[in-house]
Amino acid sequence: MVSGGGGGGGDGGGGGGGTTSGIANCAARSVDRSRRASGRTRARRVVLRRCVVALPSRAVDRCTCAHGRATGSSAPAAPRGRSARRARANGATQLPAPTGCGRRPSERARVAHGEGAASGMSTLRMALLLAGGAAAGLAALCDSRTWHPQHLWGASRDFWQAQWDKVVWALGDDPLTYWVYGTTSLTFAVYWTVGGLYTLMDLTGRPRALRRYKIQPGANEPPSRRELARVLAQVLFNQLAVGLPLARLAWPLMRWRGPPALRPLPSLHACLAQLAFHVLCEEVGFYYSHRLLHWRGLYARIHKLHHQWTAPVAVTAIYCHPLEHVASNLLPPFLGVFLLGSHVATAWLWFCLAILSTLNAHCGYHLPLFPSPEAHDFHHRKFNQCFGVLGVLDRLHGTDSLFRRSAAYRRHVMLLSLLPARQLVPDDGPTEPHCAVANTIRRHSRSLSSCLLSQ
Ligand SMILES: [Zn+2]
Ligand SMILES: [Zn+2]
Repeated sequence: MVSGGGGGGGDGGGGGGGTTSGIANCAARSVDRSRRASGRTRARRVVLRRCVVALPSRAVDRCTCAHGRATGSSAPAAPRGRSARRARANGATQLPAPTGCGRRPSERARVAHGEGAASGMSTLRMALLLAGGAAAGLAALCDSRTWHPQHLWGASRDFWQAQWDKVVWALGDDPLTYWVYGTTSLTFAVYWTVGGLYTLMDLTGRPRALRRYKIQPGANEPPSRRELARVLAQVLFNQLAVGLPLARLAWPLMRWRGPPALRPLPSLHACLAQLAFHVLCEEVGFYYSHRLLHWRGLYARIHKLHHQWTAPVAVTAIYCHPLEHVASNLLPPFLGVFLLGSHVATAWLWFCLAILSTLNAHCGYHLPLFPSPEAHDFHHRKFNQCFGVLGVLDRLHGTDSLFRRSAAYRRHVMLLSLLPARQLVPDDGPTEPHCAVANTIRRHSRSLSSCLLSQ
């Protein structure tokens, strides 16, 4: 009888003394317990080995925990502890220790809290890593976006610096020459070169292909020569008798402001940033001075001269009273140059752009790939709409309400095809969203659908 108790190990030894039957019963229970325990151990070992094969270590922890909890709920505590020790002694010692098995609830909570904290730290690290990577990528993208123009500018900078050095060598080192006589000569040349081309177009009606881009067809086609002569005289007076003396008077202000050294050209970044600021200054200065000129008392005495042309032509851009020329045409563009103390080359570039802009606004042609002049042309027709350059302040003050309900507003886009704006958006067309591209797509989709339906 004792022969079978050898498998009981220590359990059999624990039942010393008493009768032979008692000893036999005790040995039999011990053998049963040891068999059940060894059976459970084998079952757990199989499960644990499967987990080791199939899952990573953290998953194994969870698997063994779950398994232990599932079996431990029906088994007594002591055999579970012994079986676990036996299982580890029988070959499962390589397995990572279960994190929750055999621990008290408070201990398991601490472990779970530790795991949660570690997981949170890991997530935080990952988030920081991703945010850092995204920031670095964005910075690289921005740098790349500006690097290419800067690189091109750097490549051509030597060329432009060499040309500028020639100008400086020819004109000398006196800034007065550049700020007063240079500025006046350059703006004069740009105004009359480009304005002269537009005037030739107006007088001759050629090239004929451009006539269909007229904003007000039939009006001032061609303009009266007598009226044009009056315009030329007033413009010349404004440029030479008003602009030149004012530039001479403005020079002490610029000297007091302290413009940068004459010879080195500014960087591309500085030039572009200053140009953007000059545009904003002009929008503010021109809008409010222009709106003031439309005040009843000032309009009749000053601004009415400019509004004689309800269908303007290019050279009427500065056809105005001398006071208006100072308040609306000279001071707003100069404001940003003075505030920033721009380099004279930047100032020249800006003044040329401002002149080209106002010539385009008055030219009477809505040409492809040119900025739309519809807003200022509308101002010359209606008088109390569209006072600004960009239209931002008009929107803010509601001085474009009538314009926004007009066909001119729907045409107020840069034309990206050769189709004239008046054909793209007819006067009697439906009131559709202000988007020439959308109108073009809609037009093409309509023709395509009608073509398909006819087939
Ligand atoms: Zn005008
Ligand atoms: Zn006006």
